[in-house]
Amino acid sequence: MTREINHFINGTHVTGTSGRSGDVFNPNTGEVQAKVALATADEVRSAIAAAEKAFPDWRATNPQRRARVMFEFKHLVEKNMDQLAEMLSNEHGKVIADSKGDIQRGLEVIEFACGIPHLMKGEYTEGAGPGIDVYSMRQPLGVVAGITPFNFPAMIPMWMFGVAIACGNTFVCKPSEKDPSVPMRLAELFMEAGGPAGVLNVVNGDKEAVDTILTDPTIQAVSFVGSSAIAEYIYATGTAHGKRVQAMGGAKNHAIILPDADLDRVVDDLIGSAYGSAGERCMALPVAVPVGKEIGDELVTRLKPRVESLVVGVSTDPDANYGPLVTKEHMAKVKGFVDQGVAEGADLVVDGRDFSLQGYENGNFMGGCLFDNVTADMESYKEEIFGPVLQLVRADNYEDAVALPSKHQYGNGVAIYTQDGDAAREFASNVNVGMVGVNVPIPVPLAYHTFGGWKRSAYGGVNQHGPEGVRFYTKIKTVTSRWPTGVRSGSDFVIPTMK
Ligand code: NAD
Repeated sequence: MTREINHFINGTHVTGTSGRSGDVFNPNTGEVQAKVALATADEVRSAIAAAEKAFPDWRATNPQRRARVMFEFKHLVEKNMDQLAEMLSNEHGKVIADSKGDIQRGLEVIEFACGIPHLMKGEYTEGAGPGIDVYSMRQPLGVVAGITPFNFPAMIPMWMFGVAIACGNTFVCKPSEKDPSVPMRLAELFMEAGGPAGVLNVVNGDKEAVDTILTDPTIQAVSFVGSSAIAEYIYATGTAHGKRVQAMGGAKNHAIILPDADLDRVVDDLIGSAYGSAGERCMALPVAVPVGKEIGDELVTRLKPRVESLVVGVSTDPDANYGPLVTKEHMAKVKGFVDQGVAEGADLVVDGRDFSLQGYENGNFMGGCLFDNVTADMESYKEEIFGPVLQLVRADNYEDAVALPSKHQYGNGVAIYTQDGDAAREFASNVNVGMVGVNVPIPVPLAYHTFGGWKRSAYGGVNQHGPEGVRFYTKIKTVTSRWPTGVRSGSDFVIPTMK
């Protein structure tokens, strides 16, 4: 019998009643391994109601006790790391080591959230006037929601609920229907860690569930990560319904390689960050921009054998560099971009489209592809491919190279490789992209900094985790108080000033 994945509402598993479900595939075999229930609007509303009911007590739980729950949750996730990684790998297709990385990056946000008593401290001014003190405090918003993509089924839910719940909010998570098991398991572990029922709920679903979240008046804020077209829709709809919204979208990250770069490092970094996780990362590096013909030629010569020898295998194979793509549909889309690149006149130096893994012929496996002589006017350059494909766009000089990421529709991450501190500094300062790596391929900021791109990579202007995350999930209240009340000076019809 096919396994069913339902909802986790008010501390218990709740069977879906919609009669609608989605297929959860095993990307290694292409087989349907489970059915995920797709919630009705009423089912989503019951999760929102559970979160609303849990809010007053959770908000009143002092921040140190809330932090203790997060500490315990962190221990339980660590204890269950192997099981979670296997579950993640089995639905997403990332290799086990990378699945553990996905969980670990989420845990680092939980570690950050354990500092919430300090992070939520307000400000105080004694004696702002005669007997007058002014103070401000950060308060949770209430019920908030997160809508997450398939490619980081552990890290991204933890980015969101880790900070939101530590701040005293209650949470409704709507994970990707492609790999929902890990978020469900995280919710169970949160309960086991002492999280009260209703504080963390998971509803599985599709557009119907998302639209309910976006329009329900109880939900105060929505955090979204996924593709840009949906991010735009989430931002427009959520804000039109009076919610605070942060919506992260797609990406096309460039590595600028100056002639003085350490090419050994560049090649190692490009191979890992373009092909790791089959390129299904929003901080992957799918575009390399060598500056000058000589370094461009040398880069292609060195990359070609490395791409040809990538080890593609089942996600549980410890020797595999990367595993299958998430679904057949997604693999067809990625291959379609490769076809398009060829049709547009780019040189396909390594063609991985026909790769097939012996014994797993029905799995979603694809070999690495390498393009040379890609140009900025090609559609295959303009769009996010999200697969194991690296495109080389050659530039004659530094200015032309930097213009590429700066003018691209996406502005998530970018990297520069150079030994020249001046060039690196000028680049970091002026490139029109939100996250910059200097001799670092995947500059995903650590949990106590903050994550977010620019342009079509993020809508809403407030980043994930770090101090920005705390700001997103709290509102500030400022109190001006007068004690003692004895001094009286009659009514004042002029606005009080400090003159
Ligand atoms: P997606 O946009 O297809 O799905 C994301 C979420 O939106 C899922 O929960 C899905 O159920 C929901 N959704 C899908 N279609 C919808 C619709 N029509 N209406 C309402 N909700 C809908 O994204 P994905 O394929 O799961 O994830 C990959 C994308 O996420 C890539 O574009 C990647 O770059 C991006 N991503 C961005 C970041 C970032 O921080 N910028 C991080 C990770 C992934």
